[in-house]
Amino acid sequence: MSSADIHPIIKPSDAVAWTECDRRVWLENKGSIIQDKSENAFDKLVQDKGMEHENKILKMLREKHQVCEATSFEDTKMLMADGVKVIYQAQLKNDIEGFVGYPDFLIRNKDGIYQPADAKLSLNPKKKSIQIQLGFYRKLLGVDLPAIVYLGDSSTAEIGDEANAITETFINEMRILLAKEKEPSVRYSHSKCSACPYLEHCKPGFQASEELSLIYGIQARSAKGFEKIGIKSITELANADYETLPDVPYLKGSLKKKRAVLQARSYLNNEIFNIAPINLPKGTWVHFDIEDNALTTTVDKHVYLWGFLAPINGENKFEYVWTDTEDDDEKGWIDFLDKIEEYRSLFSDLILAHFSQHERTTINAYAKRYSMEQNETVKYLLGDDSPLFDMQKPVLESLVLPLQSYGLKDICKHPELVNFQWEDAGSGGQWSIVQFNRYLEEKDIKVKEKLKKEILGYNRDDVIATLKLEEWLRPQISNKDW
Ligand code: SF4
Repeated sequence: MSSADIHPIIKPSDAVAWTECDRRVWLENKGSIIQDKSENAFDKLVQDKGMEHENKILKMLREKHQVCEATSFEDTKMLMADGVKVIYQAQLKNDIEGFVGYPDFLIRNKDGIYQPADAKLSLNPKKKSIQIQLGFYRKLLGVDLPAIVYLGDSSTAEIGDEANAITETFINEMRILLAKEKEPSVRYSHSKCSACPYLEHCKPGFQASEELSLIYGIQARSAKGFEKIGIKSITELANADYETLPDVPYLKGSLKKKRAVLQARSYLNNEIFNIAPINLPKGTWVHFDIEDNALTTTVDKHVYLWGFLAPINGENKFEYVWTDTEDDDEKGWIDFLDKIEEYRSLFSDLILAHFSQHERTTINAYAKRYSMEQNETVKYLLGDDSPLFDMQKPVLESLVLPLQSYGLKDICKHPELVNFQWEDAGSGGQWSIVQFNRYLEEKDIKVKEKLKKEILGYNRDDVIATLKLEEWLRPQISNKDW
C-alpha cells in the first residue's frame, strides 16, 4: 500500500488556495480542468519579483556560508548528513504522513540542527499562508527551532510554535478535502472568484442555481441565514417583503435588508433604485486619484502618481505629481502637499473628490510614515472640515445598481449607467503597476517616456471617470421629500 493510499499528498504551497476557497484547492489537486496557460502580466511580475528577492537572499547567504543546491529528496538528506551549512531548494517528504515540502533554504545552526527558511515578498509574516508554510516545514523537519522568513523589505522574522494550531487545521482540513470524490460545494465570493482561474468553470453553476451570494452585499453567512428562513434563490429574495424579513447575519436592520431585496430585483431586471437622497457637497471640485506600487523594497507602498483634474482657466486640466522611484517617495509626498496648498489658495471652497477610502487611507499612512500628523496641510486634509469627498459614499448610500461590485470601473463602464470608457480598454490598477515596473526597468529613454505617458493617460482617465460619475449623479439629485 502506498502512502497516498493512507493519506493524500499535502503540500504547503496549497496553503494560499486553502485560505481562499475549498473548491479551488480540490480543483488544483484533483480536478481535470485544463487551465488557460496565457500569462497574466501582473502574476508574472509578482513571480519575477519573488525570484529576484530569493536570488538576493541566496547571494547574501553565499557571501557568508557554504551553500549547496539540493537536486532531490535523497540529495537533501545527504547534504544534511554532510552538515552543509545552507541547503538551497531543499526537498523534504514524509511518506507516512503524505507530506511534501520545498523550503527555499535549510540553515544549520551551531548545534547542527537545521532551520527552514523562505524568502517572501510580503512584509507581513503573520499572513495565514506564510504561517502555515513555515509551520509545515518545521513539522516536516521535526524541529523546535523557529523557521525564518526573509521579508520583502530585507528584514527577517521568525515563526515558531504560534503557527502550530493553524498548520494542524490546514493538514486536517486538507485530508478531508482531498478525500472527497466530487468537487466541494461552496458559495460565490466576488472578491475571490473574480480573480480565480476557475471562474469560467464555477460561475455558470452559481448562475443556474441563482446562488444568493452572487448578489452584491450578500456574504456566505447571510446567504446561509436566508436559506434557514426558506429563501434559497435570488428570485425568492427578490420576491420577499423587506419590511417583514427577519434579520440574518450581516444583514441586520431594515435598510440593509431593503438593499438586499432591491439588489436581487436589480440583478434580475437590470433596474436602478434610488433609496435615499443623493448628497454632493457644494464647492469647487478637483477630482483626485492615486496610483501606487506595492512591489517595493523600502516602503510599504510607493505612490508614484498623485493625479488631479482641476478647473483651471475655464477648462478641466489634468495635473499630477510623479516620482520616478521609491527613493523619491518622501519628495513625492511633499510635492503632493504643496499641490494641495496650491489648490487651497486657488479655491477657498475646495472639494477633493476621489473614489473609495483608498486615497484618505493612503494620506493617513504617509502622514504616519513621515511623522507629519501635525503638519498644517495634513490636518486640513484629514480634519473635521476635510476637503476630501469619497464619491463611492453617495452611490452606496443612495442607489441600488445592477452590479455585482461597486468599483469605479464597474459603475462607469456600464453602458446603462455612466457609460465612460477608458482610452486603453485593457488598463487597470494591476496594469498600471506592471507598466510602472517596466518603466523602472527600462533603459531606453524613448520607451521609458512612452510607458510614463501611458500610465499618465490611465490616471487621467480615472479622474475623468470620477468627473463623469459626478455629472451622472447630479441630475439624480431630486427634491423628493424623503
Ligand atoms: S471561482 Fe470561486 S468558487 Fe470557483 S474555485 Fe475559484 S474561488 Fe472557488
